[in-house]
Amino acid sequence: MKKYIVADEWNIIEEGFDPHLNKISESIFSLGNGRMGQRANFEERYSGETLQGNYVAGIYYPDKTRVGWWKNGYPEYFAKVLNAANWIGIDIKAGEETLDLYTAEVSDFKRILNMKEGYLQREFTAKLESGKMLQVHAKRFCSIVDDEAAAIQYCVKALNFDDTLTITPYIDGDIQNQDANYDEKFWEEVYREVKGEEAYLTLRTRKTAFEVCTATRFTLATDRDYAIEELSREKYVGARVQVNIKAGEEINVIKYAVNLSSENYPKDQLLQAGKDLLSRVSEKGFDTMLQEQAAAWAEKWSESDIIIKGDVEAQQGIRFNIFQLNQTYTGEDERLNIGPKGFTGEKYGGSTYWDTEAYCVPFYLATASPDVTRKLLIYRYKHLQKAIENAEKLGFKDGAALYPMVTINGEECHNEWEITFEEIHRNGAIAFAIYNYIRYTGDQEYLSEYGLEVLVAIARFWSQRVNWSEARKQYVMLGVTGPNEYENNVNNNWYTNTMACWCMKYAIEALDYVSGKHPDRYIELTTKMSFDAHKEIQAWKHIIDHMYYPKDEQLGVFLQQDGFLDKELKPVTELDPSDRPLNQKWSWDRILRSVYIKQADVLQGLYLLEDQFDEDTLRRNFDFYEPLTVHESSLSPCVHAILAAKLGDQKRAYEFYLRTSRLDLDDYNNDTEDGLHITSMAGTWMSVVEGFAGMRVRDGQLQFHPFLPKKWESFSFNVIFRGTVINISVDKDGVCLNNRSGTAITVLLFGKAVFLEGLSTVNVESHCAEFQ
Ligand code: BGC
Repeated sequence: MKKYIVADEWNIIEEGFDPHLNKISESIFSLGNGRMGQRANFEERYSGETLQGNYVAGIYYPDKTRVGWWKNGYPEYFAKVLNAANWIGIDIKAGEETLDLYTAEVSDFKRILNMKEGYLQREFTAKLESGKMLQVHAKRFCSIVDDEAAAIQYCVKALNFDDTLTITPYIDGDIQNQDANYDEKFWEEVYREVKGEEAYLTLRTRKTAFEVCTATRFTLATDRDYAIEELSREKYVGARVQVNIKAGEEINVIKYAVNLSSENYPKDQLLQAGKDLLSRVSEKGFDTMLQEQAAAWAEKWSESDIIIKGDVEAQQGIRFNIFQLNQTYTGEDERLNIGPKGFTGEKYGGSTYWDTEAYCVPFYLATASPDVTRKLLIYRYKHLQKAIENAEKLGFKDGAALYPMVTINGEECHNEWEITFEEIHRNGAIAFAIYNYIRYTGDQEYLSEYGLEVLVAIARFWSQRVNWSEARKQYVMLGVTGPNEYENNVNNNWYTNTMACWCMKYAIEALDYVSGKHPDRYIELTTKMSFDAHKEIQAWKHIIDHMYYPKDEQLGVFLQQDGFLDKELKPVTELDPSDRPLNQKWSWDRILRSVYIKQADVLQGLYLLEDQFDEDTLRRNFDFYEPLTVHESSLSPCVHAILAAKLGDQKRAYEFYLRTSRLDLDDYNNDTEDGLHITSMAGTWMSVVEGFAGMRVRDGQLQFHPFLPKKWESFSFNVIFRGTVINISVDKDGVCLNNRSGTAITVLLFGKAVFLEGLSTVNVESHCAEFQ
């Protein structure tokens, strides 16, 4: 844990420069706009420890997997999001000395991420070895209005010397991924051009042949004359500008940049499109672009902000999470998805995990138009054929689909066989997301358009993955890994068995719906899928009715898997703190034998399918599993927070929430330097909205069951529900519901109907008997 970020409601602030914290700050201060993103690397040279990161959405490299003994079913490659051309670079030299914050004496350093308006700002004074002092003010952003464009304002002042100042804005494509299995470079040059202030560099990825055109143009504001020397070498383009400067004088550089990929343009038009966009944005100018950026962010905040009063750190934490989620995915492009690290690092390869469906979907459902979540679902629809092929490779047939646990293009590409391979539960999350989307939006038509095919293919998979146990006279599911990755290759993981049957039930419901409402489409789809309704549905029903679920009658709990009670049931509190985190201190063998649970597993099922279980069942399971959970996945505490809130344990709900709300800002797990935990940020949002506010959608109705955490004076947020924007505000006096749109709606508050006319407000005092 490192606590150095200054508390502030709208800004992330670092004061003073400590090179040891630099990689952490590079992650925290990251910028993105859904189409591209970057770590908060410095514009000028830096010779200290840094993780350089510029990423362009959808551009990846299939790095060959490293495994010992190859086995059938292993993925051929592990897809990597690529560190792309560095377009922020501006080298600065005073006389012959290079400005480098690692070697200079740095004072008055301040870095601010302005979340309200969406830009990064930095200022510092640097004393070079010769005693020359420079002062720098820099501002930059990735535009969410023109999402292929970005801009930098870099102001440098000579404080105490007269000399030549050399400023070199450049694009450097000679870069590497830190995470490259065989230390290869992934890019080759296609084209380069420098024309005065303009520079163009088009690179192509090896193997995948994606092309990215990066182009920059700079302007220089100074009264002095200057000369430009064009610089061009392989994978590098730039311009060296020399100005004779006097003490007290300042030079203001504006650098516009664009990144265009062949995913969006024919390759032969990429360069021209880059030139056109560069002209367009540089004509707009930095100030206009920044104003537009602020206005666009204001709109995003009006939809997704959570306002917390009485706790600045909590306010900063939740806004940071919402800001980063909105920087990562905007719902503009159904080919894109949400990597666990977004655009903030290389870990997890920028690939899509079940995190999207299990954790991120609720956030985007409530804070953006339904279309945004729909695009996330269509992403999986478009990968259906690949999921069928993936299942075929493993021996499944007849249209059964196994979605990958890790993917960038629909193919499985994990590189951690022993864990990921058997986490087939992801199929359940993908089906559940369809259900969740329809439950929230009411868009049943999604089923006949896209959903049904996915649901049938998933149900087919489960029906083939189970087997009949003659001994039990029940169906079992052998050799799986549940969400708790600290158990591998287990039999009858309760969560997986439960989700499998739920998927088959839901597929049957979906088939009924489509056949009833859209008989023609039903015939079209069942023909396309060669679906034998009678035979297949009967088989699914037989499995649903005869599934084995491990449980212990005496304890009254579901068992995470067969044999779970044979483990030594020593609670986490009795572990020596020096053993934590287990994944860094214990051998894998010891972890697997132990009882400790990495992340919610049985409890994940009780969360997703909550209406199937009564409160006593939930309480018994929560009391049994929570003490055994080490929460070594950041995706875990939010589920426990929501369940604790549901059980009325407000104190613990808040404690679980705290574990993730500032996870990255305070570097809780000492891993923020690798990148931010973007998908778990959605879990933090869920803790507030589903936990503290108790928001649910049941039978097409929005419901709240809120409480106010003791430390807070109030909290409030908007949700967009079926075209209506509802604001809920909870403070010590009670709850206020505000309908911000024109359509009337009835909301359930503490189980009682509250009618909200359009543009109306209803206050419910906490002592109001009706609501006790
Ligand atoms: C978690 C998985 C998750 C992955 C990516 C792992 O540590 O256990 O559930 O999908 O991280 O976030």
